[in-house]
Amino acid sequence: MVILVTGASGQLGQAIQFIASNYLEFKFIFASSEDLDIINQERVNYFFDTNRIDFCINAAAYTAVDKAESEIEKAESINVFGPKNLAVACKNHNAKLIHISTDFVFDGSSSKPYSETDTTNPLGIYGKTKLDGEQAVIDNMNEYFIIRTSWVYSQFGNNFMKTMLRLASERDSLSIVSDQIGSPTNAVDLAGAIMQIVVKSQDSTSSIQYGIYNFSNEGIASWYDFATEIFRINNVTINVTPIVSEAFPTPAKRPKYSLLDKSKIKNTFGIEIKTWQESLLQTI
Ligand code: NDP
Repeated sequence: MVILVTGASGQLGQAIQFIASNYLEFKFIFASSEDLDIINQERVNYFFDTNRIDFCINAAAYTAVDKAESEIEKAESINVFGPKNLAVACKNHNAKLIHISTDFVFDGSSSKPYSETDTTNPLGIYGKTKLDGEQAVIDNMNEYFIIRTSWVYSQFGNNFMKTMLRLASERDSLSIVSDQIGSPTNAVDLAGAIMQIVVKSQDSTSSIQYGIYNFSNEGIASWYDFATEIFRINNVTINVTPIVSEAFPTPAKRPKYSLLDKSKIKNTFGIEIKTWQESLLQTI
């Protein structure tokens, strides 16, 4: 079986490459944005015409949440037309698609973890384009898995963990938002969950349940909690002050609460999920 991974140079793309050697039964094609620009419909079709692809994992995205507010067209083409091109190509070539989405499709007004069927209401352009990207997949094919995740970090690429460690090396004190609640997600754990879905989908004895699934690490954190745990594990001494979101204005509004209910992915695929603290410790 041949698995195409788009956006292969991003955090998730690199995390999948990191664990790919555990799946020697599969052939992986890792395509960076230079190898395959997902907004180029002709290139996408040509890529699928000239390579046998059974599964596509779309790790490509426009992820600059604040910049998206002023780069609406760019965010839209990568997050909406990109997944649409992949969905159409997958359908035409009988390939399955795993597409990654975000907790930012929700407005954060809930007080209990969001299930896959809860009402969406993105607060910013990034969340809106990601939601429209989900719909583009749903409208154009049947054999898809959409995985909504949150607060992704890893040893790869740019992310909150790396930013905190860099800032701590430059400053004596930091103020971190403490009124946004969610769950950090280790990209390597997300990659593992995606591969478990791929493997289970190959099992002819189990009936495949396509659709939307939530995945994050277990547990609850604010950005302040996440930062203080990063510093604790790294033995970094720094003065960290919790602040409210209003004291740290950003171009894009973010959901105040974005915990995801993971019962569906756990029950359907038997996926066991580590706590974010355990996973952070392993990453560091
Ligand atoms: P990254 O920003 O690390 O990686 C995204 C990758 O997409 C980059 O390698 C980028 O390549 C590539 N890309 C951008 N445009 C195109 C294009 N037109 N064609 C092909 N590739 C392109 O993202 P993550 O790995 O962190 O995110 C993975 C998924 O998880 C995304 O769908 C994201 O929306 C979702 N997600 C991420 C969260 C996070 O906190 N990071 C939280 C919730 C969901 P290049 O650098 O060359 O432009």
